[in-house]
Formats: sequence, C-alpha cells, structure tokens
Amino acid sequence: MRPKFILPLLLACSSIACAQDASVKNIAAINPPATALAPLRYLASDELMGRGIDRPEINIAAQYIADQFQSFGVKPVRGADGYFQEFDITRLIPGKTGEVHIGQLSFTLGKDFVQLRPVDVNMKIPLVYVGRVTEFDPASMDVHGKIILVDLGIAGDAPSIQKDYGELNKLCTALTKAGAVAIVARYNGRPAAWTNLLGHLHQAQVAHPNDAVLLNTFITDNTPEFQALLTKGYTTEAHIIVSGTLARTIHLKNVIGYVKGTDPKLNNQYILLTSHYDHLGVGKPTMEEGKLDSIFNGARDNASGTTAVIDAARYFAKYPPARSVLFITYTAEESGEIGSHYYAVHPIVPLQKIIYNLNIDNASYDDTSLISLVGLGRTTADEQVKKACAAYGMTVNGDPTGGQLFYASDNYPLAEKGVPAPTFSFGMRTFGPEIFKRYHQRSDEVGNMDLDYMMKFVDAYILAAQYIANDPQTATWAKGDELEKVGLELYGKQ
Ligand SMILES: [Zn+2]
Repeated sequence: MRPKFILPLLLACSSIACAQDASVKNIAAINPPATALAPLRYLASDELMGRGIDRPEINIAAQYIADQFQSFGVKPVRGADGYFQEFDITRLIPGKTGEVHIGQLSFTLGKDFVQLRPVDVNMKIPLVYVGRVTEFDPASMDVHGKIILVDLGIAGDAPSIQKDYGELNKLCTALTKAGAVAIVARYNGRPAAWTNLLGHLHQAQVAHPNDAVLLNTFITDNTPEFQALLTKGYTTEAHIIVSGTLARTIHLKNVIGYVKGTDPKLNNQYILLTSHYDHLGVGKPTMEEGKLDSIFNGARDNASGTTAVIDAARYFAKYPPARSVLFITYTAEESGEIGSHYYAVHPIVPLQKIIYNLNIDNASYDDTSLISLVGLGRTTADEQVKKACAAYGMTVNGDPTGGQLFYASDNYPLAEKGVPAPTFSFGMRTFGPEIFKRYHQRSDEVGNMDLDYMMKFVDAYILAAQYIANDPQTATWAKGDELEKVGLELYGKQ
C-alpha cells in the first residue's frame, strides 16, 4: 500500500472509534436501565394478560407503544391511522367433523389433517400431485378447477419443511389467481412434530390472510401405500368433507412510526426496526416451577424485542441517523406472522424504500456473551452487527437450528419480497432444553431474566441499527443468496 493512503486510513479509523464511543455514551444516557426496561416490565406484566390477540388487553399494549412513540417525537406515517395500521382477520374454529379421501386413502380431521380456511365443504374434485412446494411452478400446468397436492419439504428434513411452509402462502396466492379449488399440503416431518402441529392448528386459530381464497389443508401420511402412489403428475379424484366450522372477525393493529434521517440524499431510504408485541394470551392454570400460572407473559417472546424497538425509537428521535428509521411493532406473529405478512402485502412506506430490516424475535438464551443473528451470512450488514455487539463485549453466531428460524418469524414476509431482513435474537448456542425451559412457557417472565444482558442486547441492537443507517454503502443480500434476485428486482437494479 502506498504511504499516502495510510494516513487518511488511520485518521478514518480513529474517528470511527471516537464516533462509536460517543454513540455508546449517548445510548446509555438516553436509555438508563430504569427507563429502558420500563416497557419490558409493563408489556410482560400480568395486567396485559399475555397480549393474546383475542383479548382486549392487546389494544392496551398497542396504545401504550403508540403513546411511547408519540412522547419521543416519532412521527406517524402518512397513510396510517395515526400510529396504527388496522385490519381485520378471521378467527377459525375448525369443523366438528371432516374427512379427506384421496384415491383409496382416507384422512380424518384433527387426526390426519387440519383445516386452515373457515369454510364448510363437500366436494369431489380432480386432484393432481405436483411434488414439493418450492419446485412447483403454477404456470406450468392448467390448475383450474383442480385440487393441488404438494409436499411440504423433503421427508424428514426439518429445515426444508420450515422453508416450504414459508413459501406456501405465495403458492396459495398464485393458485387462487389461476383458479385452483384447493391446495392439500402433505406434511413430511416426524410424527412427533405432526402431533405438535396438530396441537397448534386443530383448535381456534387465525385463518391466514394470504389473499388466497382457496381451501388450504395439511395432511400427514408417509406410509408406503401413499409413497407408492405419489409420482409427479399422479391424478385421482379427491373428496373433501368438512362441516361445523365457525368463524369470527378480529380487529388487529400494527403500530408504526418513523424518524426522518439527516442526510438529504439518504433520508429517502429507510431502515426498518421491527418486533411483534403479541403473545399467547392466557391458557389453562398449570403448575410450573411450583407456581400455578395461566398467563403467558412473553417477557422474552417478545416484550423484550418490542422494548428494544421502543428504546431505539427513543434514541433515534434524539439522534437521527443519515437514513430515516421506520419502527413497526407487529401484531399476531404467534398466529403465523399475520401482522408482518399484512404489512408486506399492504405496505404504507413502500418496500423498495426500505433498504434493510433488523427484526427482533426471542425465544430464550443459553449464552449471555452472545447474540444470535438469524440470517447471519445472508446480507452484507453482518460486520455492522458484529461491530455493535463487540462494543458490548458480545460475539455473534447464526441460527442454531441451521436455518429454520429464518422462515419462522416476522423477518420472512418482507425478506421473501426482497428486503434484506435478518432477526436479531438473544444468544442461543443450542436450540435445546435451556431455551425450551422458557420458550412458550408460562414462566417466560421478567423476574427470571438476566436484565444486565437484556440491557446489552438493547444497546447493541440500537448501535447496530445506527451503523447500518449511517453506512454510505447500502446493505443488500449477500452474493449468491437465494433471495438476491428478488432483492435486485425489488430495488429495480435488474
Ligand atoms: Zn416471538
């Protein structure tokens, strides 16, 4: 390297270090623990009854977040209803009885299949098997008037099943447009995972607002008889019968606001900071750790993330970065990323103006020297996140499940539209017993959280967002990433 380049480089480095010190100091000054942790304590309190979307307290939580935004000087986005994006969804109570017949095989509702749309049906329709969700192009055949049978993932391969599950909505939308009658997705996972899925889906649940009106059903069967039938292009007649379905409308709100960036050129671009504020509500009273409890407080999941977004809003309202910062706390993530999906399909700030989304979702942690970035290696902003975490003495690893979590939170609905969107999470070395001790348990409470770690998590998140928002280089998908192409299309570079 030629000497004349060394001096400016050294100067640049030392001024970045200075800026970092100043930011760390400012973040600490704006968000002292009592202030920073107040939203966590409130949102996870028994008073808010677990922030279930079918309870009135969810609206108290939404109003609280909006009031916080307003008190900081965060601005409402034009096109929103104040600080809210409001919409209705349908809550489905599955049919009392139901059967699906495919050729000679029969499936029973609540045992071998689950119903995902709020309709009673009795129809005999030609069915065609088309293989895996991600490998089927709906334009490749005439699907009009047919039932399409697809596989969710590769048999036994959990990450591929999770990924296909994420892709299913897109296929539903395309098939609806093309005039298909129903999609039947064959679940390819382990029987234990199917039992788990049944527990989640064969009960009152939200019908996914995926703009698809076609009947959407999951079945399970990996028997040799079924396998033998299923070669691509296999056709038969299927008979679907479901009766006794009930449906109810629920009114929901995403909470949204923004801070305008300081750079006249870059402030037309937005960094999006997100988390979901809903959780599981109230369940049956159950003994957990010697305490009879019914409220799913969801302190980690995801009052912690919502708190970090609120604290980021407080900081950026005082210290706006070069780019604008958009804050959204989503509703109904626990029902299948409903709020983020709704935003992705009905954006208020257009997606091509949102250059990067740093989502937060938390299960629990097993290492407090660590931040887990779900999507590490998939965008060009990794170094910014690592640098921010290093400022608080923490290192960064990727998704401990090897990729499944990327498709299982609010980052994905925007990611699949092209927005580089990882999820910033508490440190997980292993997605195992230590995590499951709190994940979706009634004992996910503030009282058993490490609040020093929570403070580092919040501060590192804010610093990472600031680095990305100030970076003269716009963050993108990593070269060769499976979403690079949709990203280029979204931002009009192809
Ligand atoms: Zn969550």
